[in-house]
Amino acid sequence: MLIKPSINILVVENDITILQKCRELLVNEGHRVRTAESVEEALHIIQKQPGDVDIMLLSLELPGWGGLTLINVLQKARREILIMTMSVNCGEEAIEAMHAGAYDCIRKTFTADRFWTKINRAIEAFRLRRQLGVLTRQRQAALTEVGHHENLSAILQSLTDGLVVTDWQTNIVLFNSKAASLFDLTREKAVGHPISACIQSDELLSFFMRAIKSDSSLAPLMAGEEPIIKVGDKALRVHVDPVKNETDTAIGAVCMFHDVTSVSAMDKLRDDFLSMVSHELKAPLSSLLMQISVVLDGLAGELSAKQSDLLGKAKEKTKGMITLVNDILDYRRIQEGKSIQKIANLDLAEILKRTVELMRLSAEEKGITMTCDIAEALPSFSGDRGGMEAVFVNLISNAIKYTPQGGNVNVILNKAGKDIRFKVVDSGMGIPTDDIDRIFEKFYRIKTEQTRSISGSGLGLSIVKGVVDAHRGSIRAESEVGKGTTFFISLPVEK
Ligand code: ADP
Repeated sequence: MLIKPSINILVVENDITILQKCRELLVNEGHRVRTAESVEEALHIIQKQPGDVDIMLLSLELPGWGGLTLINVLQKARREILIMTMSVNCGEEAIEAMHAGAYDCIRKTFTADRFWTKINRAIEAFRLRRQLGVLTRQRQAALTEVGHHENLSAILQSLTDGLVVTDWQTNIVLFNSKAASLFDLTREKAVGHPISACIQSDELLSFFMRAIKSDSSLAPLMAGEEPIIKVGDKALRVHVDPVKNETDTAIGAVCMFHDVTSVSAMDKLRDDFLSMVSHELKAPLSSLLMQISVVLDGLAGELSAKQSDLLGKAKEKTKGMITLVNDILDYRRIQEGKSIQKIANLDLAEILKRTVELMRLSAEEKGITMTCDIAEALPSFSGDRGGMEAVFVNLISNAIKYTPQGGNVNVILNKAGKDIRFKVVDSGMGIPTDDIDRIFEKFYRIKTEQTRSISGSGLGLSIVKGVVDAHRGSIRAESEVGKGTTFFISLPVEK
């Protein structure tokens, strides 16, 4: 007879002879047996060690509560105990017990063979039930897992922004339906394929590569005004981040795409309108300035001191408006990528000398001493003449504007290695440390008591930076409040 051990059996019987007989048979086969003579005693054992009873042999002829009550209690408590009833005749009560959840019934007048036929079947049933329980729990866990993935996928699909995830080799591993519609992606075309083959943008590819390499310059770029890339006829604001594992190693990158095509179109319309208005204002303002100058110079008759004073103020305001209009037009040129539209071999020394001469008058008006050191035999620089003029004019006019009466402005142009270096040093009011990183932002102006009366658009330095960047150069500023400011520009001669 093949009975595997490790089955815990509780025999509940008040007839000591039957109890002993059951116990003997079971123990002889290596089972662990406990006994109880009443329902209360049985319940006590079960409650004390719930996992310690696998099968219960339960008499249906117990005094007091009776075996049926115990079956009902255990069923309610969802105890996974297989109950085998014992009865004198296995009649009505046994059938009722089976309805209540008992597995089978053994007549108390059993022979050893009969006993084992029934008990072995019960043990087998118990093992199957236990196995089923394990499988059910495993399946439920798997379903929860699947449910979890399905939820995650549902969340990704509900995003109104596109989402693409790549592995560390920039191969696409995941994308949502918005990304599919933006870039016409399908699973077959995209998953496992390089992002560069699915989304045509060198800029985007460089963001992914920088994210995967954990390039520290990417995070500030993404934290600021997120870049907008062009893919086909779409303008997309992108945010790329590395995907890191538990050891903080980048194992891929994730990008969110926000479609700003319609917003960009509106922006362009607004900017075009601004350009058009600026353009239309430029000619009448210049002629107004000329006419005011003619009157101020006394060419239209003698002026009283009061009249001169008022006209002088009008002339300054008109100049301010002309600068603003020029700034707007220059800025639009740079935005449209036209800052290096006409590339030519430039003699920067000659351009700078002419600019300095043009500005000398306004420096003298403020009693500012302006010096100019230009190195001999500088190589020619290939760049855009209008752009380079804008760089010199803006930096020198700022130096004059933000330097009080009687100060100094030094302009230096020389060569360092393969670069041409341009430096403007002033002894002016200086720039507070907190502002120095922001002065190249468009429309950024420092608001202090001293700058309040100085007019400007806040566009000059962003124009300068735009032109320098377009020529693959670099610009930085050093400053100390109350002592002065130096702007350094480096322009590569060989590109
Ligand atoms: P703005 O039209 O106001 O001069 P810019 O873009 O040229 O605009 O300059 C931005 C801000 O940087 C200015 O408003 C000014 O506060 C500061 N700035 C620029 N150049 C100097 C300088 N040489 N000295 C002190 N502050 C300066």
